Amino acid sequence: MKVPFLDLKSQYKSIKKEIDSAIKHIHETSAYVAGPAVAEFEEKFAKYIGVKHAIAVSTGTDALHIALRALGIGPGDEVITVTNTFIATAEAISLAGATPVFVDIDEKTYLMDLDTVESKITKKTKAIIPVHLYGQVVDMEKLRSIAKKHSLPIIEDACQAHGSLYKKSKAGSLGDFGCFSFYPGKNLGTYGEGGAITTNNDEYAAFARLYRDHGAKVKYQHDIVGGNFRMSGIEGAVLGVKLPHLDRWNNARRKHAVQYKKLLSKVSEIILGAEPASSTGNYHLYIIRTKRRKELADFLGSKGIATGIHYPTPVHLQRAYSSLGLKEGDFPVSEKVSKEILSLPMFPELTEKQIAYVGDSIKSFFKQ
Ligand SMILES: *Cc1c(COP(=O)(O)O)cnc(C)c1O
Repeated sequence: MKVPFLDLKSQYKSIKKEIDSAIKHIHETSAYVAGPAVAEFEEKFAKYIGVKHAIAVSTGTDALHIALRALGIGPGDEVITVTNTFIATAEAISLAGATPVFVDIDEKTYLMDLDTVESKITKKTKAIIPVHLYGQVVDMEKLRSIAKKHSLPIIEDACQAHGSLYKKSKAGSLGDFGCFSFYPGKNLGTYGEGGAITTNNDEYAAFARLYRDHGAKVKYQHDIVGGNFRMSGIEGAVLGVKLPHLDRWNNARRKHAVQYKKLLSKVSEIILGAEPASSTGNYHLYIIRTKRRKELADFLGSKGIATGIHYPTPVHLQRAYSSLGLKEGDFPVSEKVSKEILSLPMFPELTEKQIAYVGDSIKSFFKQ
């Protein structure tokens, strides 16, 4: 049996009619950049997340970058984030001209270790970026109380957390900003690149709208130096079609996670990721941990099962960040976990049979 890591084709087939007609409409109206389909999606997405404003932009990386710009963050400033993340979180800080300051992760949830955040706050600290990695939500009440004590804004990296909940609130509505990616493989993915900023703050929203479009509210009247971070019409149209399906897709992933857990919780050689308190994740990724990762991944590969690693190298050990002078041993939990984590196939259209096959294959590997 073949079990791909992700299958975007089967999802397209399930909504082909709606998608094709929405894209056709873009061609017929030539609204290729921004335009009504993007504006309509922004409105629906803001409502879905439970915030006043959603600003569609070019990518998730740009969403984070623009949020930092809106806070006036730049050279000489420090922004605290986590080293177990996709590099884009740190890159956005660098793009703004500021310096990323990393913290380690909690060994059970693989999310930002909130007990170490305060020790990293200096006079230069200007913001905190928690990452809701794998679609699990950071303990935001605890983080907000730390941020409040030091008057620091919070930018949620919700690029993997579309529809994830903290208590009853959506990820992206819990900080000063939420930042989303609509890269095709995300839970809400478009057919190209896309991102969004969510916020309840009118000023931040107005800044983001200006900044994404060359700093101009009126064509050729440029109030600030911005850039081109607009979303294309086709991306907005695709997202508008997909958004109403997101909860159903996330629920399917949650069901798959329950099945994985049932199958794997008794396998003593692997550790399953723990759901953080008050978080209802969207299961963007399903992570297991084993000391025999490479052997297991190779074995599963030989059985037709694709796996991934998210992420094999913590950001502080990437060559791109060598100038920060950080080294092996600085963030021991992230380093250890990065050598042991393995992402199993996870997408809404997975079948019970496929998951059972993955579970049986893992069990047979450890029985050898
Ligand atoms: C995908 C992702 C990003 C970046 O989003 P892009 O749209 O690819 O630029 C940032 N942070 C995290 C945690 C991500 O998973």
